[in-house]
Amino acid sequence: MLVGAIEAGGTKFVCAVGNEANEIIERVSFPTRTPEETLTDIFTFFDQFELAAIGIGSFGPIEINRDSEKYGYILSTPKLAWKDFDFLGALKKRYDIPMEWTTDVNAAALSESKIGASKGLKNTLYITVGTGIGVGAIVDGNILSGSGHPEMGHMLVRPHPDDHYDGFCPYHGNCLEGMAAGPSIDGRLGVAGKDVSPDDQVWDFIASYLGQAIEAYTVILRPERIVIGGGMMKVPGLLDKVRTEFETLLANYVPTPPVDEYIVLPGLGDNAGITGALILGNLCLA
Ligand code: ZN
Repeated sequence: MLVGAIEAGGTKFVCAVGNEANEIIERVSFPTRTPEETLTDIFTFFDQFELAAIGIGSFGPIEINRDSEKYGYILSTPKLAWKDFDFLGALKKRYDIPMEWTTDVNAAALSESKIGASKGLKNTLYITVGTGIGVGAIVDGNILSGSGHPEMGHMLVRPHPDDHYDGFCPYHGNCLEGMAAGPSIDGRLGVAGKDVSPDDQVWDFIASYLGQAIEAYTVILRPERIVIGGGMMKVPGLLDKVRTEFETLLANYVPTPPVDEYIVLPGLGDNAGITGALILGNLCLA
């Protein structure tokens, strides 16, 4: 039995076909174009197979509340051609099979928790720090959602006393994403993060914000492990700075595992999203 998986990103789509053991058998990727053009690429790939279900991890925000008339829609994305597009509806029209969808970060959180760096744990968090900041929570083995998917990247943070940057988030200014995602480096220094020395003070600012966020996630959710990935976490020394900030801020208020087992890098790397979508597809059939 074959299951389809889609990782829908703002710049790139990955489609895969896998089996019940969540192993990917075949995969393709192509640039994100208009919804109609991109669907043509998706159908060209999936039409070759007899699929039993499809799981999707998508860029968002997206509507995951089944009671909403916009269930299945991509909502207020800056990618205007995709705004208010009924993505799940378009897939359902082509393939009358069970489907489940969530955000790309939730899909990655799911796969890291089932087979990645948090394998065997039921309460885990996945954070990605790149051009934006996304966070997915797995609680008691399931993806946490309320009336919609959480947006934990947009929690407000306390500015570092030496940081005079106002943040780039158009909604909040100094939320975590506005202060610590990739564009904030360019906003402060006029160059991309990859061109900034690992010794630059800006990384202390970034670590301060990520440490604050992880302290908050810890006291709110009490996860067993927090996986943190994305392009920014490749900066040498940043992970250790984040761990130190977190420990200082939490001040041993509640017990957590040793910090180098509590805040860790991803286990699945670039495969986290597509594997999570495959797991989601298989869960439709469980
Ligand atoms: Zn924000």
